[in-house]
Amino acid sequence: LVVLGLETSCDETAASVVRLTPDGAATVLSSVVHSQIDDHAAYGGVVPEIAARSHVEMIAGVTARAMAEAGVGYDGLDGVAATAGPGLVGGVMVGLSFGKAVALARDLPLVAVNHLEGHAVSARLGRPVDYPFLLLLVSGGHCQLLEVRGIGDMTRLGTTIDDAAGEAFDKIAKALGLGYPGGPALERLAEGGDGGRFDLPRALLGRKDCDFSFSGLKTAASRLAHACETDRDRADLADAVQGAIARQLADRSDRAMKAYAERHDHRLLVVAGGVAANRTVRATLEAAAARNGFAFLAPPMAWCTDNAAMIALAGAERLQKGWISDIDAAARPRWPLDEARALSDPAHK
Ligand code: ATP
Ligand code: MG
Ligand code: FE
Repeated sequence: LVVLGLETSCDETAASVVRLTPDGAATVLSSVVHSQIDDHAAYGGVVPEIAARSHVEMIAGVTARAMAEAGVGYDGLDGVAATAGPGLVGGVMVGLSFGKAVALARDLPLVAVNHLEGHAVSARLGRPVDYPFLLLLVSGGHCQLLEVRGIGDMTRLGTTIDDAAGEAFDKIAKALGLGYPGGPALERLAEGGDGGRFDLPRALLGRKDCDFSFSGLKTAASRLAHACETDRDRADLADAVQGAIARQLADRSDRAMKAYAERHDHRLLVVAGGVAANRTVRATLEAAAARNGFAFLAPPMAWCTDNAAMIALAGAERLQKGWISDIDAAARPRWPLDEARALSDPAHK
């Protein structure tokens, strides 16, 4: 199966063509990502109205480039997958409408994809990864632990009770005077720092559930950031923040691994989403996985942040099961992953 994927749920306009063979091997034939970071930088965050307008301007060109680079032609496609949510609704509508237009014009099936399901399968891009696995999804808007048994078959074990980890990175980075997006900038600043001198809140550590909380850390670190006087202070604080976030992610994943191991023999922890690009986060999770006898997998950086290859792959896996969406599928600004199956599986409507 060869599927064109479209992603427009936040501040990346992306298109990609992915081939999925019956044995589950996925090959990325092309992946084009246009980041809007420059459009939003002056505002310190994503402005929904600017994002939607930029998606309108970029989607046709980005798609044309992805199609040209893939070299398969529209006749070589078996379907079109577009993110239908969750995300900024103005942006989602652009990619979804464009996907519907391509589907209608070329008489192709449309698959409306949950953006989080895209992140969930991103580890399977370019290499075989068997289901089931335990997934830590850490992005700009989400922080969840999921038991992933297959496409459209996922259970949430835990989620954040306030902010997402990426949000915490971004807000604290802003307080430290760093640009948007804050996560990568904070990681660079932390390189020369030694966080040992700061005692930051340790929310939920050791608690029996698998939930997260970052708002206490965010408030405490932001206050400390405004009191920083030297570059040294800022680097030390950045290191402390990064360590604290990584520790909480590992502690909660530790709980989830223990619960997961009671149900499954295939012990694999996968991390996905933009925050998975952070090297301290990866190393801390890898150590936690090893302690629990879990293998650990983090997708290449390019598949961690938003891209359309993961949407194309999720769409292809759905198509393989015969799950096709209605051509009038609605954009869904909110869309919990547990409900993702219902949209296209008639048996679950
Ligand atoms: P969602 O998928 O929840 O809708 P999103 O798509 O905006 O949100 P992603 O693109 O997956 O999120 O990830 C962006 C987030 O990842 C931002 O919060 C960014 O700061 C964070 N991030 C990216 N690189 C790093 C890094 N090296 N260290 C820490 N955080 C990072
Ligand atoms: Mg983004
Ligand atoms: Fe995302």
